[in-house]
Amino acid sequence: MNEAIRHFIQKVNERNIGEPEFLQAVSEVAESLIPYIESQSQYKKSKILERLVEPERVVIFRVPWLDDKGEVQVNRGFRVQMNSSIGPFKGGLRFHPSVNLSVLKFLAFEQAFKNSLTGLPIGAGKGGSDFDPKGKSENEVMKFCQSFMTELYRHVGDDIDIPAGDIGVGKREIGYLFGQYKRITGTFNGVLTGKGYEWGGSLIRPEATGYGLVYFVEEMLKMKDDTLVGKKVTISGSGNVAQFAAEKCIEKGAKVLTMSDSEGFIYDPAGIDQAKLEYIKDLKDNLRGRIKKYATKYKCEYFPGERPWKIKCDIALPNATQNELDLHDAKTLIKNGCFCVAEGANMPCTPEAIAVFNKANIFYAPGKAANAGGVAVSGLEMSQNSQRYSWSREEVDNKLKGIMQDIHQLCLKYGKDPHGHINYEKGANIGGFVKIAEAMLAQGV
Ligand code: GLU
Repeated sequence: MNEAIRHFIQKVNERNIGEPEFLQAVSEVAESLIPYIESQSQYKKSKILERLVEPERVVIFRVPWLDDKGEVQVNRGFRVQMNSSIGPFKGGLRFHPSVNLSVLKFLAFEQAFKNSLTGLPIGAGKGGSDFDPKGKSENEVMKFCQSFMTELYRHVGDDIDIPAGDIGVGKREIGYLFGQYKRITGTFNGVLTGKGYEWGGSLIRPEATGYGLVYFVEEMLKMKDDTLVGKKVTISGSGNVAQFAAEKCIEKGAKVLTMSDSEGFIYDPAGIDQAKLEYIKDLKDNLRGRIKKYATKYKCEYFPGERPWKIKCDIALPNATQNELDLHDAKTLIKNGCFCVAEGANMPCTPEAIAVFNKANIFYAPGKAANAGGVAVSGLEMSQNSQRYSWSREEVDNKLKGIMQDIHQLCLKYGKDPHGHINYEKGANIGGFVKIAEAMLAQGV
């Protein structure tokens, strides 16, 4: 690591004490960006990177609500408005007990690069709460969402900041949040994305992150004249991203071996087919049950408290959460012949794991490139809302595919070295940075 990088990371650390996830995300970006910025005097002089790591605004608020017993509960709400140089703030809301300022700042920072890579005019933000939807009744979730929006509404708007879903926030929560926004402001507009199709949502939005991830993997495989047919794929997670990544893998002829939740993973050597996947979707989305039920129903192995990276595979798709794949997992994957890792979640691989992938020269795609399909279709939802019109499934899917292919091209443009080796991480960081940097330069200090 050169002196300039070390100095920069140290300064960010001093200004953001107690924010390890944010520091991790910034360090990862700084390592590939600073050498590039050193060669671009206009970005260096204008301190673009120093400005990028400072959110434009952070809102922290109290979220009080009444549970089913009539008792008062208090959670903390956040919205990090990271960067609006290329469009209004845009990014999901996460409801999970692990949510804090560090986690949301890391996510908002990643979002800036990701949103830029989509080529759409969307800035970056992220928000959420330490509220845990697990075990809450329908009524409690609604009460919480209403209270959350009772404060958030004054900070968002379809030209200002457009939240969407993330972990713990799906169509149900977006519905309650949207209802409250409409009740308070009296306006029906595209303030949130991930809406139901009947009330302004886009077709393919639920599928977008997972499908987009697999379209990106297909582009990577094309670099080796290869396809997904017959490939063994291990997937972590069983939520929205994992479900539709699995669906697309199955459709493309790959064999999906694993899925997981926070309690453990299932390993189905026969492969999870579409019918079995429908059961998982129902289990997670409607019955709100645990993945271990799959093992009982389909008589396969269940590994409590473990993650699926010890299972032999060609391709690994970490789709659960940050830092879920560490150094040991990375070594195991490579030893077992895995040659491609693409992140459906945000920052699921630790820096040590990424270093191992790079050293072994295997394909590694960071989330900001590989999982950009979700926010890309959110951007397309915004376009449709502005037109008061909706596009067909085919139209949206084709646009999504085109965007993922363009992101892959950008990664090649900035990440391919003279020997033909592709560093997707470097490509995504520089590719995402340039557009924001140009906008910030043009708009002055
Ligand atoms: N939460 C998703 C992400 O990490 C989607 C954000 C959005 O659609 O605005 O990119």
